[in-house]
Amino acid sequence: MRALSKFAHAFDLGEHVALWHALRMKPVFLEKSVYEQFREGECTEELETELVEKKILLSYEAEDDEVIARARKRAPKPDVNLAYFILSEHCNLACKYCFVGSDTCGQGNSANKDMTSEVAEQALLVFARQLEHSETDYTEYEPNIIFFGGEPLLKFDVLEYVARRVKELSDEHPVFKNTNLAVITNGTLLNEERILSLNSLGVAVSISIDGFTEQANSMRVDKTGKETFERVISVLETYKHLGVEPPSLSVTLTEHTIEDLSSMVKLIQRYGIRGFGYNVLLKREDEMGGQEYYEAASQFIIDSFLALREQGVYEDRIMRKLNAFAHSRIHFSDCGATSGGQILFSPDGRIGICQGLMADSENYVTDIWDESFLANEHPFWKEWASLIPIQSDECLSCEALGICGGGCPVNARLVNPERGLHCIDERSCVHSKKTLEFLLRDLYALIRSNTKA
Ligand code: SF4
Ligand code: SF4
Repeated sequence: MRALSKFAHAFDLGEHVALWHALRMKPVFLEKSVYEQFREGECTEELETELVEKKILLSYEAEDDEVIARARKRAPKPDVNLAYFILSEHCNLACKYCFVGSDTCGQGNSANKDMTSEVAEQALLVFARQLEHSETDYTEYEPNIIFFGGEPLLKFDVLEYVARRVKELSDEHPVFKNTNLAVITNGTLLNEERILSLNSLGVAVSISIDGFTEQANSMRVDKTGKETFERVISVLETYKHLGVEPPSLSVTLTEHTIEDLSSMVKLIQRYGIRGFGYNVLLKREDEMGGQEYYEAASQFIIDSFLALREQGVYEDRIMRKLNAFAHSRIHFSDCGATSGGQILFSPDGRIGICQGLMADSENYVTDIWDESFLANEHPFWKEWASLIPIQSDECLSCEALGICGGGCPVNARLVNPERGLHCIDERSCVHSKKTLEFLLRDLYALIRSNTKA
């Protein structure tokens, strides 16, 4: 029998075993007895042909090297299509887990902590220049602007200004024609008037909330320590009452959140939420984190997927992996910065790449008045574009290589400071491996039920 690919893995599914190539991603389900014979080096011609076709068995010695070389060639080049506008480094809340921008944390370090419309205007022109110098077809891959903070709604006037200017500038800069706008907010500064304004400007809203109970939201407090849950719920009620497109939700998986799936499902159903994303907490020395939490959070994401898929509501993080799995297409990056596709504008006009490093001077390479700056030619963007699993030799033996997309290098460095940004984010490992196993089992169950029917 031919040699086994180094990207091949076996999953025990009970009566069957799934053979899986981590980059080709087309599983072959074998009865246990057939698998045992296969392990002894025996298999039928028909099976051998199928396994060669799916690259689980090698056609020739150098095939694995060629497969990884081709995959690396297809990996994203540093081509910016996402801009973070940090409208303010101030925040009206003091969430206990916040890693950016709040006054309490004091982690933003801009000279001016609020963006002005002059800075925003110049940042827009810098973003247009990046898009215009890229080879990406922006009619197909729509550019995105995300308003972020601190709390971006503290500079609502600048947000409205940028949203209007994107439209006005689109004759001169056609790359802005298909540009999507979104704001990530704690929601507490939204009211009827602002909701309608954002709606008419085409700005999608993502609100942070960690569940449908005060307890699940107990980390989300204001500066006096008061919980904010009721305020955010009243904003969701306003959306419902106005009958406008509901916001998406950004849910940080706290210990309390992952204990209560049913109230999360209720929250999504009650407000007709169509899009939401889960965030697994960053590793912090003073509180939860580590393997046990990562396992529980990953299981929660899977359970929530099962509970909501019948209603056609899908969570972003698992959908990216599911898409890679279903279409046998490598998911290269789970983060805009690690595909080199992101640019960040600080309130005082500095240019960086990652919103998790807002307080870090290493994040900023130049500013918006540098007329020669092009991210896709800059070594910093090239380095960040290499922080993905497909470029890491450490990931090559991993079964989840094709669906993973990696995690957050900032979190990886928090856990392993001595290894810097180039190491693996444990959160993403647990999540990716668990999700792959779930997807294989789910597909296997579907095939079996179809076969019985
Ligand atoms: S590296 Fe981490 S903090 Fe930075 S953009 Fe990516 S996921 Fe976010
Ligand atoms: S980051 Fe972890 S899960 Fe992802 S490919 Fe690398 S080893 Fe596998």
